[in-house]
Amino acid sequence: MTNLKESWKKVLDILEREVTAVSFDLFIKNLEPIEIRNECLYLCAQSETAKTRCLSLHSTSIKLALNQIFTEVKSFEILSPEEKDIHTANFMVEEEKNIASVSDLVRDGFSPKFNPKYTFETFVVGGSNRIVHAAARSVAENPSSKFNPLFIYGGVGLGKTHLMHAIGNFLYQTKPHLNVLYVTCEKFTNDYISSLSSKDKGISEFREKYRNLDVLMVDDIQFISGKKETQEEFFHTFNDLYQNNRQIIIASDRPPKEIATLSDRLISRFTVGLIQDIQHPDFETKVAILKKKAEQEEYNVEDEVITYLAEHISSNIRELEGCLSKVCFYSNLLGKKFANLSDAKEALKQQVEEEKPSISPEFILEKVCVYYNVSQDDILGKKKNKEIVDPRQVCCYLLTEMLNLPLATIGSFMGGRDYTTIIHARDKISQNLKTNTKLKMEIEDLKSLLKKY
Ligand code: ADP
Ligand code: MG
Repeated sequence: MTNLKESWKKVLDILEREVTAVSFDLFIKNLEPIEIRNECLYLCAQSETAKTRCLSLHSTSIKLALNQIFTEVKSFEILSPEEKDIHTANFMVEEEKNIASVSDLVRDGFSPKFNPKYTFETFVVGGSNRIVHAAARSVAENPSSKFNPLFIYGGVGLGKTHLMHAIGNFLYQTKPHLNVLYVTCEKFTNDYISSLSSKDKGISEFREKYRNLDVLMVDDIQFISGKKETQEEFFHTFNDLYQNNRQIIIASDRPPKEIATLSDRLISRFTVGLIQDIQHPDFETKVAILKKKAEQEEYNVEDEVITYLAEHISSNIRELEGCLSKVCFYSNLLGKKFANLSDAKEALKQQVEEEKPSISPEFILEKVCVYYNVSQDDILGKKKNKEIVDPRQVCCYLLTEMLNLPLATIGSFMGGRDYTTIIHARDKISQNLKTNTKLKMEIEDLKSLLKKY
């Protein structure tokens, strides 16, 4: 490994002299060498854009510099961060299964296009993701029949990408003849832009790629915000696929109407299918996910570690997984066979201490009532006059924003309301916040009031 890093440093020294300072700083300097496999050097770029730039502008310089330093390298490949994850996971599966090459992997039912670790089997279903899981499963089993498009939204690290890859893996195993493409929004945008500047086939090649599909998945679509031309092209891609009864799956960190500058035409296209959110996991789901993860990675942990993590790490599943591996790494360093509670506390001292004691829903309710001068009974009750409905919606909004609680729990706290009512209130306030400055001030007041405690 050290050798690889040292040799790569020498390549960088050569490249620094070869390319412009701006290009070097922006794209080349941050390339990270991953490994040499089958005489190919794998590099990881910081983003899809950096990858495209390196390949389109500096391919030859990189190749020449590599030839000077590495004798054993015949080619190189640049991976985006996402492709790196897939690459690493693929080779881990390959090594676990003791098979020789990616082509054997393909024969064993793993597509090189999807992360083999992200499957329906490894996805733990709980209250926070039950509906979205069922929808994803239904789309995987019967594409283009029920939910088209399927639009999945929710915060970071909650399993959106996992589900898309699970659909891809499932389709690869059950309907390998289908042409399935998964791209990030960034990749779609870059493909579109480079097709515009390409002299030969350009846009026709782009359209051929994106319109000859049975299933198109676009991840992190929120990044299309503000890109008018790309939205226009996406709109036509969407229509073309949809009219030909092809499946479209989209993921985003927020619902369509909250993606700034998303054209109304696109919003209305998304609304035709199913728009489904994915929530923060509740305690039981967190425990189940951690257990599954420990089993998969063959971590030896006491049950008390799992409970401790599920109780104390509230943000998202990616972080939860990170903490679990941190605890195991720590106990391994100590030469222990099993990680126990004290290892967990020690390993996560910073993370857990930094978490502030959380505000309770009762406290939020109390402050909202005082602020708007309404009674708790009214807010929790059924009155429909504006003086009550407005503070009620603000209260729902603050509960979803400031606490990490399932929507159903918030619903029952708010006088036994359905979780869809909470979504409605939250979305309504988020929407109004964009235009209503008085409301914006009130929410800011309340937030700073609540954060004081
Ligand atoms: P997102 O795309 O929503 O940001 P990811 O799909 O990348 O999140 O998920 C983050 C991590 O959490 C991944 O390692 C994924 O496997 C894991 N994860 C998320 N949800 C689940 C789940 N329900 N069961 C098991 N693992 C999960
Ligand atoms: Mg993702």
